[in-house]
Amino acid sequence: MSDAQQSRAGSVNPTPLPLVFDQPRGRRKPPRHLADLDADGRTVAAEALGEPAYRAKQLARHYFTRLVDDPADMTDLPAASRDRLVADLLPALLTPVRSLEADGGTTRKTLWRLFDGALVESVLMRYPDRATICVSSQAGCGMACPFCATGQGGLQRNMSAGEIVEQVVDGARAMARGDVPGGAGRLSNVVFMGMGEPMANYKAVIGAIRTMVAPAPDGLGMSARGITVSTVGLVPRINQLADEDIPVTLAVSLHAPDDELRDELVPVNTRWKVHDVVAVAWEYARRTKRRVSIEYAMIKDINDQAWRADLLGDVLRSYGDWSWVHVNLIPLNPTPGSIWTASRREDEAEFVRRLQAKGVPTTVRDTRGREIDGACGQLAATDT
Ligand code: SAH
Repeated sequence: MSDAQQSRAGSVNPTPLPLVFDQPRGRRKPPRHLADLDADGRTVAAEALGEPAYRAKQLARHYFTRLVDDPADMTDLPAASRDRLVADLLPALLTPVRSLEADGGTTRKTLWRLFDGALVESVLMRYPDRATICVSSQAGCGMACPFCATGQGGLQRNMSAGEIVEQVVDGARAMARGDVPGGAGRLSNVVFMGMGEPMANYKAVIGAIRTMVAPAPDGLGMSARGITVSTVGLVPRINQLADEDIPVTLAVSLHAPDDELRDELVPVNTRWKVHDVVAVAWEYARRTKRRVSIEYAMIKDINDQAWRADLLGDVLRSYGDWSWVHVNLIPLNPTPGSIWTASRREDEAEFVRRLQAKGVPTTVRDTRGREIDGACGQLAATDT
């Protein structure tokens, strides 16, 4: 084939996108866990063990309300039942490998090993008025964003709903037991900003969210508005999320207001363009009445020019009144070996000023946990 023929063939059959929606075949699944099942499924599981149906709710109350998974602490259950139920429905899914603290212990990052050796991270952050857990939804990530540590290693596998919920339960337990300076408290917020693309693992992520918002004893009884799903912008999945009628907060990782640059920074942009993503985000805000967050990592001399701030403001405002959106600027946390670095202070300040001048609410993210490689995937990357 000549070069010309090749390039014509190339345009008809574009190179496959670096998207991996499906689990690689032939892998074992994580052990089944209470948090993988809905209330009916839990009843069926209890009965299959020869237990009365109501044991499912008793077990759920221990796990989700008392945050207990040790049979010794379940004294209202007959000893033999406890052991059976815990062995079958509360398998240990996460093994701590390492824990790092910063900010006087109010930021705590944990590296977890999953049943098959895969490594993921979660970060617990306590603030004066709230406590947030940042969770992973996949081991690795298939989205290949070049500035992100997780993006460099590709996708290993989707996490199960149980593996996602366990990160939240661990954070809730640490708060309840007063392990974080500030006394005993409550975990109020969950952000899907750890490893992975949550919308590429939709079923497990929505299952985990359902369990987080389910009232006791079936779930953690959290408020949907305290849960934030951050995505590169998988358009059909964002529509599906709006259909769920669980008004979680949506964060869209935009990082550039123009397709030319976004194609490079967020490769999925070759499939869904800036305007597709912003339009679906606007639609999400309209339908859920939740203000959408636009995430924008500030990368020195790459996406931080004043004209790009103006363009970003214009793009967002073209979808109507600014009150549907706010911009969250994240100083880039450089990944090892990357030539990219965080923006200069004065460029960041000008970027904020330009957006605010257009009436777009803008904040600069508090950069907690930098010294413990707080950015997405950096801890797991140094351990593999
Ligand atoms: N895949 C999802 C969620 C995980 S990352 C998403 O992309 O939204 C959470 C946020 O951290 C995203 O906005 C991501 O772009 C950003 N991020 C990743 N690596 C970063 C880095 N090195 N510095 C600053 N922000 C980063």
